[in-house]
Amino acid sequence: MKVRIQTHNLVACLVAVLAAVSAFISLINIHPQTVDANAPAYDLVITNARVVDGAGNPWFRADVAVKDRRIARIGRIQPNEAGKVVDARGQILAPGFIDVHTHVESIYRQPEAENFVRMGVTSLVSGNCGSSVTDVGQFLTRVKEQPLAVNLATLVGHGSVRRAVMNEEMRAPTPEELQKMEALVEQAMKDGAVGLSTGLIYVPGTYAKTDEVVALARVAARHGGIYATHMRDEGNGVVEAIRESIRIGEEVGMPIDISHFKISSKKLWGQTSTTLGLVSEARKRGLSVTIDQYAYTASSTSLDTLLPDWARAGGLDEGKKRLADPATRGRIVAEMKSGLKRSGFKDYAYAMVADYKPNAAFNGRSIAEIAKQARSKSGVDPQIEQIIEMYQSGGAGMVYHKMNEDDVRRIMREPWTMIASDSGVRRFGEGAPHPRGYGNNARVLGVYVRELRLLTLEDAIRKMTSLPAQTFGLRDRGLIREGFAADLVLFDENTVGDRATFAQPHQYPTGISHVFVNGAEVLTDGQMTAARPGVALRR
Ligand SMILES: [Zn+2]
Repeated sequence: MKVRIQTHNLVACLVAVLAAVSAFISLINIHPQTVDANAPAYDLVITNARVVDGAGNPWFRADVAVKDRRIARIGRIQPNEAGKVVDARGQILAPGFIDVHTHVESIYRQPEAENFVRMGVTSLVSGNCGSSVTDVGQFLTRVKEQPLAVNLATLVGHGSVRRAVMNEEMRAPTPEELQKMEALVEQAMKDGAVGLSTGLIYVPGTYAKTDEVVALARVAARHGGIYATHMRDEGNGVVEAIRESIRIGEEVGMPIDISHFKISSKKLWGQTSTTLGLVSEARKRGLSVTIDQYAYTASSTSLDTLLPDWARAGGLDEGKKRLADPATRGRIVAEMKSGLKRSGFKDYAYAMVADYKPNAAFNGRSIAEIAKQARSKSGVDPQIEQIIEMYQSGGAGMVYHKMNEDDVRRIMREPWTMIASDSGVRRFGEGAPHPRGYGNNARVLGVYVRELRLLTLEDAIRKMTSLPAQTFGLRDRGLIREGFAADLVLFDENTVGDRATFAQPHQYPTGISHVFVNGAEVLTDGQMTAARPGVALRR
């Protein structure tokens, strides 16, 4: 009896408390100044989409709602629940593409980044190949004053750090110099860099021995960064270069991304089974190794990489001094000849000029053609003379047709390969740049997914979205998930494709109609908008 009364009392007490709470809640809810009953629940809803979520799962039909720059809901959503409706009409809705291998240090001069936006790219990782800004904090904070159309992350480049401390000296750093470099990497990581990059083919990165890179990578690793490398050699020495990259990550205990994975020696064409095997072996040992790739059989880099690295030490003036000495010049020429021969090319017909400032008429033509016309002689000797002359005049941007299509395909099929352009922000119509900066993602979707069926659509998109986000630690991007940033791309899988060619690179892709960055439309019905919703992405 007593017990029962107590129970009654308890229930009564609970009921009273609940009533008070609910009265309080309803009081808040009906507060007239804070809630507009007619306000739409979402800022934007994309209806009738076939959603490819970025994880590799098969597409599904859904509407996607966006609120406050984030994906708020996925499912059946009434159009009247949103301030703006975009009817996808059955097109593919994917997470915005994340391009982890770019060179966009100059992006603030072209904040619309149109060549990337039109490929469906919404986030860029810059600072690759050892070359970055040295003040990462300033680079990333600038987004607030000078807004961009896309999101921006950066690595800190070993070459840039080395140059800042010891210029272009061809020697090991002193302990004090190494300390200074470590301090610069430390600061960059604190400022939000996503990792350390190297360009061990370029001056001055090429002068670093493995232990120097290990020391700097260790600093980046302490902050959870990745080691992204343009390896010492992508030609005849590619196997040893992969081993070095893996050794660095293994010694330090950090994830490794091998940039623009390729084989650029004709003699080694077809050996991707060996080179990919090294990566897959390392992964079996528990090392986090990934690679990235652009979907072309030509690379693009500077002309001076054709000269031996010792010949370029100390900068252009030093290089010119060496070339003025007949004996040294003879050694340089001999090394260029033997290197060419070892890589299996009979001359420099594979080397096309992309951007030569002193004479724009060279753009789009090969060294072989230019040398033949300028020197009325064919053969390797006049071509080398031509290269040296152009190097002495300040160098050139080049496109090198040195890869094999079967290798490109074998690389693309690996589950840990990401799609990345290796491009900068393009100025429409300027020079004859590599077409990848206009077409890379669209080319994968058009050629390798639709025409060749090398990849499924879902897997190709995974390689452009969640895999890059996971690898570079971009936490809330790369997937269509509730709560994730609303970076989205809408395209027609039947018409998406690249149009940019080596002969006519300045052509935007087809089939990509809408691009959203943090919920704002930067491309609508194939037209660029004035929106600049990009943010800095920090590790
Ligand atoms: Zn590179």
